[in-house]
Amino acid sequence: MKDIVIIGGGASGLTAAIFAAKKGHKVTIIERNNTCGKKILITGNGKCNFWNEDQNLSHYHSSNKECLSEIINEKTNKEVLSFFDSLGIIPEIKNGYYYPFSNQATAIKNALITEVQNLNIEILYNITVTEIIKKDNFIINPNKENIEAQKIIITTGSKACPKTGSNGIGYTLAKSLGHQIIPVYPALVQLRGHETYFKKWAGIRTDAIITLYEDGQKIKEETGQIQLTDYGLSGICIFNLSSHVSKNIQNHEEIISINFTPWIKENPENWLINQNKKVKNRNIEELLEGFLNYKLIPIILKESGINQTKHLDNLSQTEITKLAKNLTDFQVKITGTNTFNEAQVCTGGIPLTEINLKTMESLKVKNLYFAGEILDVNGDCGGYNLSFAWTTGMLAGKNI
Ligand SMILES: Cc1cc2nc3c(=O)[nH]c(=O)nc-3n(C[C@H](O)[C@H](O)[C@H](O)COP(=O)(O)OP(=O)(O)OC[C@H]3O[C@@H](n4cnc5c(N)ncnc54)[C@H](O)[C@@H]3O)c2cc1C
Repeated sequence: MKDIVIIGGGASGLTAAIFAAKKGHKVTIIERNNTCGKKILITGNGKCNFWNEDQNLSHYHSSNKECLSEIINEKTNKEVLSFFDSLGIIPEIKNGYYYPFSNQATAIKNALITEVQNLNIEILYNITVTEIIKKDNFIINPNKENIEAQKIIITTGSKACPKTGSNGIGYTLAKSLGHQIIPVYPALVQLRGHETYFKKWAGIRTDAIITLYEDGQKIKEETGQIQLTDYGLSGICIFNLSSHVSKNIQNHEEIISINFTPWIKENPENWLINQNKKVKNRNIEELLEGFLNYKLIPIILKESGINQTKHLDNLSQTEITKLAKNLTDFQVKITGTNTFNEAQVCTGGIPLTEINLKTMESLKVKNLYFAGEILDVNGDCGGYNLSFAWTTGMLAGKNI
């Protein structure tokens, strides 16, 4: 019989194991891979953006947002940062984004694993938990390994990026133990459309203001770099809008508006006319070359119905209005998102209302705990998803 078993040795599972072992518990991690923390290694493009200075709750999304302050607050933030300090991680902080100073995700993974080893935490590798039965205790994989545990923490992650081990099986386990699952969709993921010009704009990266509209209503605005691809749109701004699209695209029209000229603060038609006066003797293509990526110019002109050899002086008012609109409010109809394979995280999961948020214990089953992305919380890009994994892992481990 085991004391505490943690199912899943990712960011939240390793943290939970360390905090529980520090309290003197005998802890076992069951991990389906032959190594722990596989996903940590690919975070932040291999640099691991593990925290963000700005812990405003607006960066976290959940069907029960009102509950979040119980998990993420000044006290828990301090505790997580002091945890990383105790692991010897010196952060490099860029615009509030925390990375290990080495800029290597291995620094974080190795620091956690070394601590796990130092605390004599047992790890059982290459075991996929497919069934848990609750009797007096928990019986894990009754027809195979048949591991009995007094208390368990499920930290199996979501369905995002299944090649790292998280394929959504945790939801099935939670369901079998009596929990509901808020529908799960890909998040922090690219957006797709069907426009013929996508092939032509593929490869462009540009700074822009991006606005998501749903059925004509403004939902959210983001500023930063976007990537234009042969299937649609990518980049951090797009990722941050994607969870809303994922959840709602089946029943609503989702449009992304791109402002390719974010520096224009005045009426864009006036700006174009003044710019044309300033540069003189340029046709419309040459005028746009001063500030637009050259691959974008024929697309914007075609969508505006303007011949590229014309001069702005010879355009009709309607043409100038169309051009100004396509520069500042270029609308792309979104038809879907990329899949769980490309997504960094998921929306949905176990509702926070079914969890004691001080301890992360299930309100449905005694001695059952959850932490990390399996819960119905997803964060913006910027370290928020790992922040949530460390924080909930810590709360579960400390309080079990
Ligand atoms: C490409 C990419 C980049 C990212 N970059 C960042 C970033 O820079 N900053 C940030 O904050 N977040 C980032 N994220 C998100 C972040 O990695 C996750 O939110 C976080 O790892 C979730 O932690 P977790 O412990 O809940 O789940 P995971 O880290 O997914 O760990 C789950 C573990 O459980 C194991 N497991 C699953 N099912 C079973 C089972 N049935 N039996 C046994 N073991 C099982 C898995 O093998 C895995 O080891 C990124 C994600 C991706 C995919």
